Amino acid sequence: MTNDYLIKSAEMDCPICNKVHSLELRKRLTQGLVKGEVVNYEEVYYLCPLSDEEENEFVPAGLMDENLLRARDAYRIQKGLLTSNEIAEIRSFYGLTQSDLSALLGWGDVTVTRYESKTVQDETYDNIMRMAFENPMFALENLDRHKERFTEDRYKRIRKKITDKVEEVGNLYLKKQEINSLYVNFQEESDYNGFKKLDIEKLANIIGYFAHFANNVFKVKLMKLLWYADALHFRRYGRSMTGLVYKHRPYGALPIAFDEIIYLPTVRVIEEIIYEDISYKIVPNKQVNVSDFSLEELNILESVATKFKNYRAREIVNYMHEEKAYLETEEYEIIPYSLAKELRELR
Ligand SMILES: [Zn+2]
Repeated sequence: MTNDYLIKSAEMDCPICNKVHSLELRKRLTQGLVKGEVVNYEEVYYLCPLSDEEENEFVPAGLMDENLLRARDAYRIQKGLLTSNEIAEIRSFYGLTQSDLSALLGWGDVTVTRYESKTVQDETYDNIMRMAFENPMFALENLDRHKERFTEDRYKRIRKKITDKVEEVGNLYLKKQEINSLYVNFQEESDYNGFKKLDIEKLANIIGYFAHFANNVFKVKLMKLLWYADALHFRRYGRSMTGLVYKHRPYGALPIAFDEIIYLPTVRVIEEIIYEDISYKIVPNKQVNVSDFSLEELNILESVATKFKNYRAREIVNYMHEEKAYLETEEYEIIPYSLAKELRELR
């Protein structure tokens, strides 16, 4: 594949020969300088195929702006900053115009417009926009703080939209914060997390999968299913699936944050009285979307769910007690993933 290719040809006024003829609109990978750093980006330009001059290309002003935008976005991606499209997505998440978002965050009227079209935002501004997106309560507090920047009607309409988002994703944000704070000592990839940083979205999807495809999924059983999925994935690919860290406990492997992870939004927890004890049954909250998983992951989830489908908590606990990972660790000790290499074959 060449890096320079034709997008289309069109009859146009050619500024090089000063007459109307067919010009080529082309695209190529090029390098540019943004804030003193070299970035690779795609630039679009016109080529006059009739000219023998060395200068047979030109870029009209509108295209020039688009090229610069792509160069800045390449820089943003390199620096881990929000791209102009991502900023626009944050706005549409709350139904805000560019000047709405600026006003909501207490910035000058055109600040967001500039970030979407001209200037690369600095890290502080980037963090604030990210926070407003991830935590709707933060957006709401800011809206109320800058209420005078909006008409009464506009304020009410935006407030309604944000409070809807607080209900929809606000709890998830808080749950994630809680879980992440319990994993603060496991930010690095190691034998403890299976060489993977905790992936809460993936974890939520896996919990949803098990709630859907296995029977009698109570808390204890779910934790074992998770361990088997992670251990099997580690044995096959040298990485865990979720990044959970498990400890050796009387009822087998128990992940750190076991009390918090069952409140992720893919499942609901129902209290059931069994033999006069309250048990926590995990039921699916929404359809399982298989496209959330790779084929390798699905294969593992299916093996684990099938193997233990009808196991009761006591049976899966007893089964796990025979694993080397359990036999070779002490009470409260973290179970290193390297011991998963010895996992018994699931069938
Ligand atoms: Zn020409």
